[in-house]
Amino acid sequence: MLDKTSQEVFNGYMLDVENGIKKFKSFALDGNNIALDFVNTVEYRGTKKEIEWIESYLDALCWAERSSILAKEDVIRLFEANNDECQKFYEDIIVCRKTLHDVFSAVIEDGMLNKLGLDLFNKLYKLVHRVLTEGAGGNNYVWLFPDAQTTAVGFLQPVIQASADLLLSSNLSRLKRCSNAECGWLYYDTSKNNSRRWCCMSSCGNRAKASNFYKRHNKK
Ligand SMILES: [Zn+2]
Repeated sequence: MLDKTSQEVFNGYMLDVENGIKKFKSFALDGNNIALDFVNTVEYRGTKKEIEWIESYLDALCWAERSSILAKEDVIRLFEANNDECQKFYEDIIVCRKTLHDVFSAVIEDGMLNKLGLDLFNKLYKLVHRVLTEGAGGNNYVWLFPDAQTTAVGFLQPVIQASADLLLSSNLSRLKRCSNAECGWLYYDTSKNNSRRWCCMSSCGNRAKASNFYKRHNKK
């Protein structure tokens, strides 16, 4: 019997996602920033309804493919390299996501990062940027990632760079949390008059509209 190629297996997995066999039909990319979209892969965070969208290494690769942070061939390469390091990769990106959530939440709630928040962010940033390191011969220097073995670097680098770009942006008052208190999704408001209130009009926005209509209607 012929073995399925990695490409076929991966395509099959993506098809399961498309057909709703996996619980997420599509990853929402409404944050206007890839780092916010990554943080938003937990839905209803901290509530009884909490949903984890990235439950495995494979889910993470699917997200990377969907959000174009990795080229399809890199996703396949990482898929083929499914080994002991993969669980570590998965754990690393989940820890990173929690840190980014805490950092962005601090900015939204307090308007700025305190020393602890800055330290947390800088620790992440260092992970995905090369440092000048002594070469093998001892007389030369090379650029290396601090932890050159981790496959998580390629995945996290664009996400963490997008976070840095966001924090460096001039108008952090546009970094917001969805007005639906249960939802918890974050987004960068690019509306003309900084008036966006919902993660996405077709879900939370319409739910709120329907609820307001119902309340008004019942008062009459
Ligand atoms: Zn929402």
